[in-house]
Amino acid sequence: MKLLIATHNEDKKREYTEILGDLGLELVTLRDLGIETEVAEVGATFAENALLKARAYARESGLLTLADDSGLEVDALGGEPGIRSARYAGPEASDEERYRLLLARLEGVPDRERTARFRCAIALVWPKGREEVVEGTCEGYIAQQPAGEHGFGYDPVFYVPEYRRTMAELAPEVKNRISHRARAAQKARSILARALALQ
Ligand code: IMP
Repeated sequence: MKLLIATHNEDKKREYTEILGDLGLELVTLRDLGIETEVAEVGATFAENALLKARAYARESGLLTLADDSGLEVDALGGEPGIRSARYAGPEASDEERYRLLLARLEGVPDRERTARFRCAIALVWPKGREEVVEGTCEGYIAQQPAGEHGFGYDPVFYVPEYRRTMAELAPEVKNRISHRARAAQKARSILARALALQ
């Protein structure tokens, strides 16, 4: 059976292949299927956006489909940037401009009040209509200064207390074990494994 990983992002595809690759499913991407449709992320939560995408691509492909939505929630900013993480600082801004804006908005906020988490929602939609949504989070703090070269997005300013490093200072293998996406993907894996066993 095929599983459509509904992303245009090759890094995400690699991460999902590592976690779901041995389930006996044939993993395909939007690019493999020649699907170029963009689904507007108009939901109010990560879960709603993941479901919107998974439903749309399941309908278009006729395949069991996985889609995700993720971002950063900063407590001192009332959960911002949240579902606006990718567009924070405007549609044309770079990753660095986004995390610099975040640091500017947190100026003067002491370390203990800089709590934050990455959140990832994954939706699974079967062509016959079954829908499942799971979430994973990764807790940390927003650093005072960026550090590290790995990863992407807000990784240079996301401090992981267990490792005393920013996410961008951690080796990719470590990030792929502890990240919000890895944790959500493990839950998705359990659901898929059960569904395959019942077939
Ligand atoms: P999306 O799930 O691809 O829509 O991601 C939304 C945005 O959240 C990204 O553009 C990043 O800014 C941020 N983000 C999501 N996951 C991560 C991560 O693992 N590290 C750093 N930033 C992330």
